[in-house]
Amino acid sequence: MLFLVPTPIGNLRDITLRALDTLREADVIAAEDTRHSLILLRHHGLEPRELISLHEHNEARRTQELVERLRQGTKVALITDAGLPGISDPGARLIRACHEQGLPFTILPGPSAVPLAVVGAGFDLDSGWYFGGFLPPKSGGRERELRAALGRGSVSAFYESPHRLGRTLDLLAELEPERRVCVARELTKHFEEYRRGPAREVAAHYAAQPAKGEMVVVIEGANRAMLKAAQAAANSGDHGLGE
Ligand code: SAM
Repeated sequence: MLFLVPTPIGNLRDITLRALDTLREADVIAAEDTRHSLILLRHHGLEPRELISLHEHNEARRTQELVERLRQGTKVALITDAGLPGISDPGARLIRACHEQGLPFTILPGPSAVPLAVVGAGFDLDSGWYFGGFLPPKSGGRERELRAALGRGSVSAFYESPHRLGRTLDLLAELEPERRVCVARELTKHFEEYRRGPAREVAAHYAAQPAKGEMVVVIEGANRAMLKAAQAAANSGDHGLGE
């Protein structure tokens, strides 16, 4: 049986009792970075029976090996460096293989940065929310994603790296300066921060004080007036969504 086990995204105590039991009882733990995961395991007094790596560079080969072992009845726990496996991390391929080959799996609930950020941003969630994974590193793809987010009636959230945050916020401030955004940073850690406000203000803040650490960018959904303005701009051939 395969167990996907979420691990802390900062605070080592954010791990459930069931996750610890599962890791203790697993025949094999597959981890993105074995050295990193050993720190967590040992912090909780766990010594894995077998610890192997599964990361983006060996995911295809490891998946085949693990499928073979799952077929033989081995208890396999999959963890990543932080959060829920499969969310911008390895995991989906193994789950897909379980579906295709009729192998049993379960996913334990636990920490993941995106739901915390979306709730902590405090925007209206009645229309749900969209998660786009990491924003594309290239400016064209990034701009397309951000324009789509500004034209969406629901909240959008993206993982972002600290050295690209400034460019992302500047672009949002240029496209729609009054649209509210929230940068959720260092969640569950000592310097946890939710910085929320119009895009122009949040952009100015981080321009003066560049952000460090891990972060999620959350963009408020467009209300009816905003969507109408965006539609009018698109119809008039002006593809700008904001001003
Ligand atoms: N699987 C993870 C999850 O469930 O959240 C995500 C892994 S992804 C490789 C790492 C990205 O998640 C970071 O670059 C950052 O955007 C976000 N992230 C992870 N931990 C975070 C934290 N403590 N605070 C804010 N964002 C975090």
